[in-house]
Amino acid sequence: NRQVILKRYVNGCPTVDDMEVVAGAVRLAVPPGSAAVLVKNLYLSCDPYMRTRMTRHSETSNFVPDYVPGKVLDNCSVCKVVLSGHPDFKPGDLLWGVTGWEEYSLIPNPVFCHRINHQEFPLSYYTGVLGVPGLTAYAGLFEVAKAKKGESVFVSAAAGAVGQIVGQLAKLTGCYVVGSAGSDQKVNLLKTKFGFDDAFNYKKELDLNAALKRCLPHGIDVYFENVGGAMLDAVLRNMRHRGRIAVCGQVSQYNLERPDGVDLFQLVGKHIRMEGFLVSEYAGDYSRFEEEMARYLKEGKVVCVEDVAEGIEAAPAALVGLFAGRNVGKQVVAVARE
Ligand code: NDP
Repeated sequence: NRQVILKRYVNGCPTVDDMEVVAGAVRLAVPPGSAAVLVKNLYLSCDPYMRTRMTRHSETSNFVPDYVPGKVLDNCSVCKVVLSGHPDFKPGDLLWGVTGWEEYSLIPNPVFCHRINHQEFPLSYYTGVLGVPGLTAYAGLFEVAKAKKGESVFVSAAAGAVGQIVGQLAKLTGCYVVGSAGSDQKVNLLKTKFGFDDAFNYKKELDLNAALKRCLPHGIDVYFENVGGAMLDAVLRNMRHRGRIAVCGQVSQYNLERPDGVDLFQLVGKHIRMEGFLVSEYAGDYSRFEEEMARYLKEGKVVCVEDVAEGIEAAPAALVGLFAGRNVGKQVVAVARE
């Protein structure tokens, strides 16, 4: 049972050497009398927040437990039940939920595992458009930012797992949608595949404020915040009166010892509502979201781009690549196809 372990706590940018693929000792059995399930992992999800778990925090300062050096990483995966001691799950069932970054995982209590209801789509979609990133886009855009028809929406890291869905849902709502991304290839995807009204490559812009003014001359009603730092600062200057900012993530800050300065005083004069959220608060909306998103996918109203790395050995590099923007779309690791 090959596993990806954390070798040491990380400072600055993570590298592949901070992780190691090792042969782990997992007994391929379910303890007698327990309600555990043994699963074969098919697709592992790579997510930027995993970096925040690679630094040692005081007990209360991170919202998820830190990874432990020498121990296997964990995150959301798509998996297949191999053995089950639980009455609701049987061998062959396809699930998604939190498992180790390994070929097989023993899940002591599978209550937080969801069944895969729509096998007509690639199973890996349950790490992306039909999983946590999709629900994050849906909850952040509609529940937190309350985006409405006719409004201007800006999203950063727009070609990524969350951003590509935010943009498409905002378009389906009748918003004017602009995105930023870190390469011309991604900007092209935003405009051609995902239907954004406009987009720019933030790495090529000398002045982010000017880029936003060019693409959104009347200002921004809703900002879906994924990156923080200089982009957030420029966005605040371009927000409209009573704008709303859903603070989903701040990926530009995750590798820094000290966060960049941002002029939050902009919130005051313009009565902007900026609200952080964790997708876990919206777990109760998942079934509604899953059915709505499955319908959009079937009707071709939403499309999804994935970046699939092959084999568990490729997992460390796939995770590290998120911080260089190497992923085009949702980064997944295919451990096994069935
Ligand atoms: P992505 O698929 O968007 O991958 C990360 C992307 O971030 C990279 O491809 C890169 O794109 C961009 N990036 C990396 N470093 C920087 C940087 N220094 N400055 C600007 N952009 C950078 O990841 P996700 O869609 O999974 O996550 C997007 C955001 O959503 C993250 O901040 C994440 O933490 C957050 N999140 C929050 C959740 C919640 O519950 N609040 C749940 C899920 C995700 P590019 O080439 O464009 O630079």
